[in-house]
Amino acid sequence: MSGKFRPQPGFVVQAFKLALDPNAGQERALRSHCGAARAAYNWAVSWVTAAWWQRKAEATYGIGEEELTPWRPWSLPALRKEFNRIKTTEARFADWWQENSKEAYSTGLANAAAAFDNYAKSKQGNRKGCRVGVPRRKPKRKARLACRFTTGTIRIEPDGRHITLPRLGTIRTHEPTVKLLARVQSGTARILSAAVRHERGRWFVSFQVETDREITRVARPDAAVGIDLGVKHLAVLADSSGEIRYEPNPKHLDGALKLLRFHSRRASRRQGPDRRTGRKPSKRWEKANAERNRIHHRVANLRTDALHKLTTRVRAEYGTVVVEDLNVAGMLRNKRLARRVADAGFGEIRRQLTYKGRRNACPTIVANRWYPSSKTCSNCGATKAKLPLHVRVFDCDECPLVMDRDENAARNLVALAAACTTGTGVAGDQDTPRVSKPRGADRKTRRQRPSRKARAGRAGGAIPQQRTEARDRTQTEALTLW
Ligand SMILES: [Zn+2]
Repeated sequence: MSGKFRPQPGFVVQAFKLALDPNAGQERALRSHCGAARAAYNWAVSWVTAAWWQRKAEATYGIGEEELTPWRPWSLPALRKEFNRIKTTEARFADWWQENSKEAYSTGLANAAAAFDNYAKSKQGNRKGCRVGVPRRKPKRKARLACRFTTGTIRIEPDGRHITLPRLGTIRTHEPTVKLLARVQSGTARILSAAVRHERGRWFVSFQVETDREITRVARPDAAVGIDLGVKHLAVLADSSGEIRYEPNPKHLDGALKLLRFHSRRASRRQGPDRRTGRKPSKRWEKANAERNRIHHRVANLRTDALHKLTTRVRAEYGTVVVEDLNVAGMLRNKRLARRVADAGFGEIRRQLTYKGRRNACPTIVANRWYPSSKTCSNCGATKAKLPLHVRVFDCDECPLVMDRDENAARNLVALAAACTTGTGVAGDQDTPRVSKPRGADRKTRRQRPSRKARAGRAGGAIPQQRTEARDRTQTEALTLW
């Protein structure tokens, strides 16, 4: 994907996601398209990397640089050109490539091009986030079924219950399309592309739409709120007027565990698939497995719904929202916390708050990862050296304050909003580089990725000290951070 699409001024690009109810033939066609995307992706990965291995092998024979097999390009036009050449001749595509829309193959090739781009950028250190590995083939068993259409007939039918996609034809939707349909008909929305995907046991279509910006009114634009996320309460909200609200943790997964245990046990008593022996699963196992998956899907749906309702409600009320930069990946490495943390969806809450704020041009302040929100007194500002997770009440050593620890943390966070606007803050805005000022916090969390160059530059290669640090981090970070 080169060149990002820029909407015209006053417009935003937004997704409209709808559940589909395809009939049996359409379901087969949908699966075929997604499979075709995967086949094209795998072909592209093999085609590009084959040249790498060939060059490597040739180099061991002492062949000169100029005589090596040339590199193969991985840009989308180059991949498309080569794919269009071989699809009619190569046996693995020749018989069936005409059955699917060309957009299916383009999906796979575009994804492969992006994967190679990400790998190259990551290797050169030009990409944020975790290190990206060499693109690998997608196995049929694991690949997510998805396919994207950018050209051809992409339409919302005027009856409000059907959509039309290239080659797949008109598919009935599970829910009314009126919201998007009204916008398209009044000319305030334009469909750019459509993507179908199989998710949580159901088919969805997601329209990428350029639509005019809708500024929702914020009830208290001048008020700020600090949000402390936790397991006991999902969120503690402290607003700038001093009001405290507790959001209970719905714990959807905990509620379903008993049922899941029953269904998992039942599935494990039946004949499941075995990759080593190539054993196919029995019909009875498939039935039990589907039943088990249904519970997982239900939990996921409940969680999504609750999180959206929470974040929308917060964003509709307050102008400024202060959240913590939690090390969610680190907490998930703690086996005692992982299930609860994953069930709460901390990362998702922050993501939703941020984008829903940007929609109304309201700021989101992210407190520095080492800002000791739990360990600081919200009354006098004194910082405790240690506050283990099981201590639920904050008792200040310097002043008479005694308070629930989560409430104290939320109050500290909302205080950051004021500090941030006057420019003395510890926190930084989402879009500006964060200023760190650790006020008594111990930086036990290592940076996500130490630069490879720095490590290679040292005599003796890997640093054993860093190893030990990485090991005890899993425990300490959860304790110090929250
Ligand atoms: Zn105090």
